Amino acid sequence: MLPVAGLLAYWAGGELGLTALAAALPLAMLAHGPRRLQGQPKAMSDQVSARLDATLADISARGGVTGCLVIQFDDLAQLCDRLGRARQSEALAACVARLRGAMRPGDVLYTLEDGSIAVALSRVPLLDLDIMVRIAARLHLVVQQPTMLAQGPLQLTCSIGFCHSLQLARPTGRALLDAAQIAGDEASRYRPGAIRGYSADLARARADRDALRAGFADAVDRGEIRAWFQPQLSTDSGEVTGIEALVRWHHPDRGILLPGAFLPAISGSELMELLGQTVLTQALATLAELDRRGLRVPTVAVNFSAQELRDPQLPERLGWTLDRFHLAPSRLTVEVLESVVAGDGDEIIASNIDRIAAMGCGVDLDDFGTGNASITAIRRFAPNRLKIDRSFVREVDQNRDQQMLVTAILSLAERLGLETLAEGVETQAEHALLAQLGCGHVQGYVIARPMPVDELATWLVAQRENHARALRIGVNTR
Ligand code: C2E
Ligand code: MG
Ligand code: MG
Repeated sequence: MLPVAGLLAYWAGGELGLTALAAALPLAMLAHGPRRLQGQPKAMSDQVSARLDATLADISARGGVTGCLVIQFDDLAQLCDRLGRARQSEALAACVARLRGAMRPGDVLYTLEDGSIAVALSRVPLLDLDIMVRIAARLHLVVQQPTMLAQGPLQLTCSIGFCHSLQLARPTGRALLDAAQIAGDEASRYRPGAIRGYSADLARARADRDALRAGFADAVDRGEIRAWFQPQLSTDSGEVTGIEALVRWHHPDRGILLPGAFLPAISGSELMELLGQTVLTQALATLAELDRRGLRVPTVAVNFSAQELRDPQLPERLGWTLDRFHLAPSRLTVEVLESVVAGDGDEIIASNIDRIAAMGCGVDLDDFGTGNASITAIRRFAPNRLKIDRSFVREVDQNRDQQMLVTAILSLAERLGLETLAEGVETQAEHALLAQLGCGHVQGYVIARPMPVDELATWLVAQRENHARALRIGVNTR
């Protein structure tokens, strides 16, 4: 409009007109500024709640039900890495258009700030859990339809959470959206393709997770996050060949929390890196301290999440931390879950593991047998050792099927030139049979439970004495 206004002013008043316009314009902008600010578009989540509020108002006058669904696309970050931002947006836009086409006219679809999609349903006479699940399943199918991109067809997957207004004691637009998001977050923990409805239990669990997440960084500062250690033995010599660091939270109110109680609360956030570095530092400090006390343990194994393994700085970080404690890289073993290497296309993880192995660190494939990694994936990630999951070890001495599975894993490992360790060995009979079958190392409650550092030192001294005594009298320490 500015050039037009300029021309008009010049035509009406010549140079004087232009001068008047120049003086008036800033004043007009000042006068309109605040009103423009008030009129700025609302955040998308506010628009969703406003829409649902309007439907709820209609419902309180005429009766009926409404609901909200939140669709969270799985692995958006990897998609962006793989396709680039432009292609990712193109795929998402095509998917949103398909979703719009699949909804009824009164339903409204919004793209939220975090890339997820909220659907505000229109007023309907009847809506229950069953119907919501059916709507979610239909939307899920729509998301899964392949999108044609220049590189070929792309199939998206998503997790969906939902809530309908009868599920809430005091439904408001905001409460419905929040509840659907809580259910969506829960669904995305079981991705791909999970669908979850809201429940009060979910909300409580979410509040619990939020509290743990909010307190985690302070807990690290206060020294409440500590590595405990579980020994690993050679089935050949009976000697301790390593220890695994397993994190514990010494919580002031709730006692000692296992990783299962708090890892889900921090996973996906930068706190996971803080946890990783804390455990790594304590693990290496412990190894160095044991060296000083003359209780040398060859290696300490540290668990790394997919998120940490995706960090391009990880190999350097490991290098610096090893240097800090004057330890050779071979003293550190990196544990990678089999399920992490099973996912294809994760080139950053593959190259990180390559670099870590090239530095001289050990690489263990954790929970082996549960993660569906292909032989190709195992070869590509080239671990040194397979950690046979506890589910195969349980009652291996009594159960023929278990024996066959363990034997199959052991022969696969042999063919691939990999060492083996059986996890979760709980009885002497399991230990003995695993040794007979040719499994190289064992770890489990029958040897020792995970323990804090000072107990570990005492245990190592006792173990060493037992081992020496057994050798003297010619008894096999197994
Ligand atoms: P994991 O790495 O497979 O560790 C083995 C788990 O089995 C540990 O549970 C250990 O306490 C338990 N365990 C050991 N021996 C036996 C046994 O004989 N019987 C039975 N029933 N269980 C046994 P925990 O400490 O609760 O850790 C659970 C998982 O949490 C670990 O599984 C690992 O995946 C994860 N984790 C633990 N510490 C860390 C960490 O520092 N960072 C990351 N990213 N993950 C961790
Ligand atoms: Mg492990
Ligand atoms: Mg394991």
